[in-house]
Amino acid sequence: MRRVVLVHYAEIGLKRRNRTRFTRRLADRLRLALSSAGVAGQVGVDSSRLVVAPDDVADAERAMRAVLRVPGVADAAHALCVADNVEAIEAGALEQLTASPPGSFKVQVRRADKRFPLTSIDLARAVGGRCADVSGRPVDVHEPDVRLRVEVVTGSAYVSAGTRRGPGGLPVGSTARLLAFLSGGLDSPVAAWQMIRRGARMTGVHFHNRSFQGNAVLEKIEDLAGVLAWSAGGFPLIVVPFEACQRAIVGTVPASHRMIVYRRAMFRIAARLAYTERALGYVTGDSLGQVASQTAENLRTIHAVADLPVYMPLVGSDKVDITDLARRIGTYDISIRPHEDCCAYLAAPRPAVKSNVKELEELEAGLDWDALVDEALDKIKRRVIAPDPDVLR
Ligand code: ATP
Ligand code: MG
Repeated sequence: MRRVVLVHYAEIGLKRRNRTRFTRRLADRLRLALSSAGVAGQVGVDSSRLVVAPDDVADAERAMRAVLRVPGVADAAHALCVADNVEAIEAGALEQLTASPPGSFKVQVRRADKRFPLTSIDLARAVGGRCADVSGRPVDVHEPDVRLRVEVVTGSAYVSAGTRRGPGGLPVGSTARLLAFLSGGLDSPVAAWQMIRRGARMTGVHFHNRSFQGNAVLEKIEDLAGVLAWSAGGFPLIVVPFEACQRAIVGTVPASHRMIVYRRAMFRIAARLAYTERALGYVTGDSLGQVASQTAENLRTIHAVADLPVYMPLVGSDKVDITDLARRIGTYDISIRPHEDCCAYLAAPRPAVKSNVKELEELEAGLDWDALVDEALDKIKRRVIAPDPDVLR
């Protein structure tokens, strides 16, 4: 009997040729997650499952937590790998049941190898009967306290209890790199995570006004990057000095429209970063109508200067949905730490909720964008943030 972490991926929509590429990429991502977690072990493929086998059984739970952050993982469970005969499967099932919380149970069987002498139903009956006899626990097929899963593959079987949900989605590297705008608030890290879950490689960008914000926000952004890095497999982070740009804007643009101009400035600077990062789009935490800069009118005006598609995965989400997701992925506690928001600080008490491109071009006429963009880019800082080990605790 071998103890492993058994990983399932969502197979829906995967064509045969894509599936090979998908599993290989996912296996690579799982290896990276193990090594980030400091767990020595192997990752193998066994008929549409991935099998993570830590060298030391004591690392199994740590391996599991790392695995559950990897996009492409639909679910994972601690499992025993046993021989493919009824006695071995029964012994494995009993061991798993003994280690599970008390109460009723149910046995579910899937056979990847249909040559196994018993049908799934017969095997479930045999294993369930034996477990009930030995443990004295009742079987409940509708609402069991414990679900034992038996998966028969060629040459072996996996027996598990307590399947846990992973992020789903696609392994990172399935699609090109995007630049995630991270403000230090609640929404932007969740937005970045959603696109990482869709398989995008990610570079984070934060526009920083040193004199208004100090260093608290930089610590927050780095901590957020340390969480996202578990899913992304490392997280490059670029901090752009935004002070000179904001000062120039405050000097020429009326307060009501400054926020719109700040955000247009971000896209102008990001265009050059996207080129050096080989990124093909931008990710923001905008949610339609949430604040003045996120009305359809203002988003149109802001995005008019973006040279690449802007992905807004939260555009249709409510704050409640976003908060729930932030809690689930572990960014919530970091995001709610107080910090000075440079844009909010320098914005108007009553910002414009409507704007158009022509009006903005007139308001920006006095700004020398080439010089401002060059100056900002001259002093950027880029670092690759590693997965934060504390996150797995
Ligand atoms: P968040 O919770 O992410 O801060 P928000 O609801 O406060 O979002 P805004 O402050 O209007 O919204 O910003 C909208 C989006 O613009 C953010 O989600 C983020 O992607 C981007 N953004 C805003 N300020 C910055 C900044 N200083 N650096 C990088 N990106 C920023
Ligand atoms: Mg914000």
